[in-house]
Amino acid sequence: MSESTSIFSRLKSTGRFTDELRRLIEDSYDVCQLCGAYLSEGISAFAGYNANEQPLYVGPCCTEHLTELASPIYWWWEADKRCHPGTRLWRYMDFAKFMSMLEHGILYFARADMLGDPFEGAAGIVDRKPKWDEFYRNFFYTSVLTAPSSILPKEEADRQAQQLFEDFEKIRQRKRLSSFVSCWHSGDGESEALWRLYSPPQTMGVCIQTDVRSLRESWGDNAHIKLGKVQYIDFREKYAGFYDRIFWKRKSLSHEAEVRAVLDLHDPREDMGLHIPVDLNKLLHAVIPSPFAPEWFGVLVSSVLKRYGIETKLVASELLLQPFF
Ligand SMILES: [Zn+2]
Repeated sequence: MSESTSIFSRLKSTGRFTDELRRLIEDSYDVCQLCGAYLSEGISAFAGYNANEQPLYVGPCCTEHLTELASPIYWWWEADKRCHPGTRLWRYMDFAKFMSMLEHGILYFARADMLGDPFEGAAGIVDRKPKWDEFYRNFFYTSVLTAPSSILPKEEADRQAQQLFEDFEKIRQRKRLSSFVSCWHSGDGESEALWRLYSPPQTMGVCIQTDVRSLRESWGDNAHIKLGKVQYIDFREKYAGFYDRIFWKRKSLSHEAEVRAVLDLHDPREDMGLHIPVDLNKLLHAVIPSPFAPEWFGVLVSSVLKRYGIETKLVASELLLQPFF
């Protein structure tokens, strides 16, 4: 504790985050980057720069190397959302979407309300809304009354609190229209259930495979895209916070083991999706044609990859492995 106190007396947070610093934080959230000490829950980390302007992410053990403090990082608040850079990711898609990705060199991010889950971006279940509303009404009322030099008559405080409450509700509802999402399944291997869901027999589809690090690197310097593990929540017991809700889904979907990339544009958009340019050679570790498709489909996928200059290898689905007895 004394180390953290002393850094705060020496340095003030500047709030300056370069893309490089952001990446460093993502990659090493519970380890001091300088001495390798494990930072247990409750110990804050410190992100900033050394005298040579190099980004640093350290525990209280090594704060003396910081000459600029960007911000203390209470990493455990975020920890359940973060994923190891080596986590393998899979995405199942039909052939038309795959072709669109190759043709435009993009990854498609769908607007949150278009993803097909009515709970996407939800705060909770409607039966529990009155309790939530009551909490925020009180919260805004108290903030209005306790604002510095506030000597408001009761009616005026009521009016202002109501205004804040309504604005907050509006912002929350608009959030779905300003958040764009690319969904991935995490896991060590293919999922037969997901093949059947996204590319059922008689349809032509592929699965593309990557990992968290390559996905993050594929869009280059776009620091506005957040990557995180989806949390599967029992909404009968919890409300989703304002910033985290785009990473919360109902427990009944936990088989998806989803990792998602989220781009929040802050203002509602009319576009139902966005095309984000990516380096496909960096992104694609493997392309797997559907195990339910005929052989010629695999040949077609292979020649399409060649035509677009993608060096990624075509891999046969593990569902095609044959048993022996
Ligand atoms: Zn250290």
